[in-house]
Amino acid sequence: MCEDNGSGFAAIPDLATGEEAVTADRRTLLKVAGAGGAGLVFSSALGAAPATAAPFNRKRCYVLVIDGCRPDEIGGGLMPNTKRLRDSGMNFPRARSLPIMETIPNHVMMMTGMRPDKTGVPANSIYDRNAKVVRDMDRPSDLRADTIISQINRSGRTTATVLSKDYLYGIFGTRATRRWEPAPLIPITNHAPDVFTIEAAKKMVTTHDPEFMFVNLGDVDRVGHADLTGTTLQLARRAALVNTDVQLKSFIDLLKQTSRWQNTMVIVLADHSMDWSLPHNVISLTDKLEADPELSQKVQIAQNGGADLLYWTGPAELRQTAVDRMIRIARAQPGVLSAHDRLKERPTLRLGGHAGDVVVYCKSGWRFSDPSVVSNPIPGNHGHPATASIPFFIAGGWQGLPRGSSSSIAHTQDVAPTVSKFFGLQAPTGSKTWDGRHRI
Ligand SMILES: [Zn+2]
Repeated sequence: MCEDNGSGFAAIPDLATGEEAVTADRRTLLKVAGAGGAGLVFSSALGAAPATAAPFNRKRCYVLVIDGCRPDEIGGGLMPNTKRLRDSGMNFPRARSLPIMETIPNHVMMMTGMRPDKTGVPANSIYDRNAKVVRDMDRPSDLRADTIISQINRSGRTTATVLSKDYLYGIFGTRATRRWEPAPLIPITNHAPDVFTIEAAKKMVTTHDPEFMFVNLGDVDRVGHADLTGTTLQLARRAALVNTDVQLKSFIDLLKQTSRWQNTMVIVLADHSMDWSLPHNVISLTDKLEADPELSQKVQIAQNGGADLLYWTGPAELRQTAVDRMIRIARAQPGVLSAHDRLKERPTLRLGGHAGDVVVYCKSGWRFSDPSVVSNPIPGNHGHPATASIPFFIAGGWQGLPRGSSSSIAHTQDVAPTVSKFFGLQAPTGSKTWDGRHRI
């Protein structure tokens, strides 16, 4: 576990006062209450060196994830600053999220460069066969691959995570040299608003000046989960895009005003996009599977919005027969796009054992709701192929960056190799090499 000894902070004027060590459930934190940073809480790795004024000719990289943003929204007139940034760098208009098109697995793919059969993290929600419970993959031990964060740490550089969602803070745990504790968290969504997240990111730069920082902005996704068939909520989504655009600009402005920009690379992307289902377009597989005498009481479902993961819990020798029945039943339901035998399609799905036995996707405009039709009342949705298209661009003042637009299909898993190439690190070898490729 981490604990900041605080010894280096006396040299930082706005941290010289107001320090208070606080202990939360699973974290030991340093409360930072400097001017302009009221309520900001950073935690640090054990033995982390005091912040020093890094030379401005040192390279810096920032990965900024606009959670749940669709690529068309950046060019749609509500995000002029983000569009300008995109047009100044290298854009990948055909970029895609990878299965399952959910938040946690795609953030993990960004930070590892690997698919879920290597990371151990295929979805937000899985059925944990050991604990016999459906749960989120939000524990540091769930992530079983090396991250670019750790690789950069080992190179002697400093890293930071500023993650707006509690479960992302959970899975990335104490890997970064400096971490922001997301706050204030909005009840139900468990995310911090972008205005606080960007404030924390800027504070992280001005106090700790990490050479690599990974930021998740949650507002666009969280508003996107609402029912946009209502006028008020359409306005809320538009307002979120406008606000996130302004927040992102203020972060870039800080880099430019402090002369960091000329040696900086920023990667801006989304983890998945967003689809909206009509109120009656709901698929619930639980009762259909329970109605089958061979499957009843022997199947668990981990619902991931646009994807249902089905787990056979009966005798191993009956598994294939059961999988075939599950697939047949799923495919017969209105709104189901496809159902896959995970083991047979292992080379393409690349999901690993935590994803269960059968992967079922819904069509665009639909959603899963399990175990019952009222379990998932949220029309805004992702996880299915309709939500694979994402914004992905690279910008910055560093002269070595490519400029223009590429017809290549970039993926979330390309982030780690791109960051590694930027810093001149060695690619991993052995059984856990990257599945992604660098884009610079
Ligand atoms: Zn997300």
